[in-house]
Amino acid sequence: MLPFQIFVKYVNETADLDIIEPGDCSVISLINDAKKKLKGDPIEPWEKWQLAITLPWNGVRHVLTTDEQLMCCFEEFDRCDKPMIEFELILVPNDMEFPVDLLAWKEGFIGENVPPPEENVQHNGNELLEDAVNEAVEDAATEPVEDTATEPVEDTSTELDEDAASEPVEDAVSDEFDGSEDDNYEVVDESEDDSDVSLVDEGGLDFANPDRCDPDGDDSIVILSSDEENGLTRAARYCRDNQWAPNPNGTIAFEDGQIIGNAKMTQAAVKMYAIQEGFTLKKVKNDKCRYTVVCKNDACDWRLHASCLTDGVTFMIKSVRGGHLMCPRVAENKEATSKWVSSVLKSLIQSNPKGKGKFFKNELQERYAVKVGSQTVYRAKRIVLENLKSDHAKAYAKIRKYGNVIRVMNPGSDVYVALNPDVVSVNPTFFRFYLSFKACKIGFKNGCRPLIGVDGCHLTGQFGGVLLSATALDGDSGIVPIALCICESETTESWTWFLRLLRESLEWEEGRPICFISDRQKGGLAAISKEWPEASNRYCFRHLIANFIATFKNHNINGKLWHAARVANRGCFDEAMAAIRSENAKAADWMMSEPVERWARHGFDPRIKSDHITNNMSECFNSWIKD
Ligand SMILES: [Zn+2]
Repeated sequence: MLPFQIFVKYVNETADLDIIEPGDCSVISLINDAKKKLKGDPIEPWEKWQLAITLPWNGVRHVLTTDEQLMCCFEEFDRCDKPMIEFELILVPNDMEFPVDLLAWKEGFIGENVPPPEENVQHNGNELLEDAVNEAVEDAATEPVEDTATEPVEDTSTELDEDAASEPVEDAVSDEFDGSEDDNYEVVDESEDDSDVSLVDEGGLDFANPDRCDPDGDDSIVILSSDEENGLTRAARYCRDNQWAPNPNGTIAFEDGQIIGNAKMTQAAVKMYAIQEGFTLKKVKNDKCRYTVVCKNDACDWRLHASCLTDGVTFMIKSVRGGHLMCPRVAENKEATSKWVSSVLKSLIQSNPKGKGKFFKNELQERYAVKVGSQTVYRAKRIVLENLKSDHAKAYAKIRKYGNVIRVMNPGSDVYVALNPDVVSVNPTFFRFYLSFKACKIGFKNGCRPLIGVDGCHLTGQFGGVLLSATALDGDSGIVPIALCICESETTESWTWFLRLLRESLEWEEGRPICFISDRQKGGLAAISKEWPEASNRYCFRHLIANFIATFKNHNINGKLWHAARVANRGCFDEAMAAIRSENAKAADWMMSEPVERWARHGFDPRIKSDHITNNMSECFNSWIKD
């Protein structure tokens, strides 16, 4: 590959890094070199700087996290015959998680790329191999995989044998590892730890040793073996068989050789352990490939050492030694930071956003026997609630995607997203959302009595708004949600939007009986008469009674009113109303001022075949979704 002319841009400034050989640079060196040349770069922790590239042929921006990705980028530019590359320095917020999914990144990169020139078959073959290697390494590193995970490798090796016959396969593999070895793999020099755990299994492949990818050795060729028992399968199986998990009773213990996950997960688990055992951690080593901690008590011999496998991501506990037999328990553990509290009490804080500090402190004392300060709890609460806020914003930003997914995955369902008409079209914001699943529509039309409960409930969270819903009951009096709508507030306009879409969704035939039961919301009633003019209406009697009590401040004749609403025929109703009138004539007049067929069972439209006098179905639905 020829050298490239490299530029690195940061905001309005561009650093000229001159001519660079792809083999001579890494993500880290590019960031460092660029930062030296830039004048306007703010002082930020090193790990917050990231290198990004916008591909000139499709305008897609990628963050380059690993040197493999960087190399892949160079190759693509080389292939597209572009000798000049402009990278971009970006600052990422603290809470952004890295590394990004390498495999997905590569798929996106290759997938969006221009097709390779015809004659460049050799190159293409290498890339296929790279993908296969990455895929296999990824598989081995993350989830326990079945033996089928070897299939892509096998397929590719066959293809490669045909396509790249002119070049020895070993070289291709060695190049791949050679390019990344210096930057990605650090040699663990803690021989005292590493020597006492042998991971060399019957095949003689020590995949846990970062030195394994020796370009001169024969090990790397194992990846291309079509034998089912190849090294990566073994690595994957090892990870699966030695996956660490908390004990069934929730306590934590570690053993040599266990795999917890990536560096972050490993540190979190060790932290939990320190809190459980009541001691403070002291870090001896904490870098990309090694994590060594001891007990802060100098007299204590406890020590844990973990290091990463060849994938550079997965950490294994190499050794855990000693015990805290002589250590006094630390009551106020420094490991119990606000961040830790926010992670362990996340759901509790979310469901009790107004909970007192003492409540959460007691919970921590009970669960983890750890004392934390009020400040820590306060900060933890803020972390959780702030995240929840940004979660809401992120969720609303995804709502159109969500709608598209429903349309594709659940054909026949209706999803509509309305954008705010008051906001300029370049940066649209959310306005309303409508959703009705096909199964619910069919179920209602074919299996339910034609009574729809409609209601609105206020949404909590920073954006507020209301959720309108249309709910029915099945033959077993089970709740059938027909449609829902998220909108700005309960107005005639929003109700009209919702009920018009509901009518379209249901394709309700002209003249087919239908009845709505509601809380007499002003906007709701107007919208029903507009969009469903032939529908009959009922008022939820519970709400009517609430209004009655608010008006008359009289609780004594509630029972009689309920009786009047419930009786099944005109004769009984007249008797019941006469009894009410003899006690309180004004109350009887007030009740009769509301159309009888909207609240008294005997007056209901008989075609509806339902005698519900309250809108309990909507209330059930609301309390159900609020959980
Ligand atoms: Zn100790």
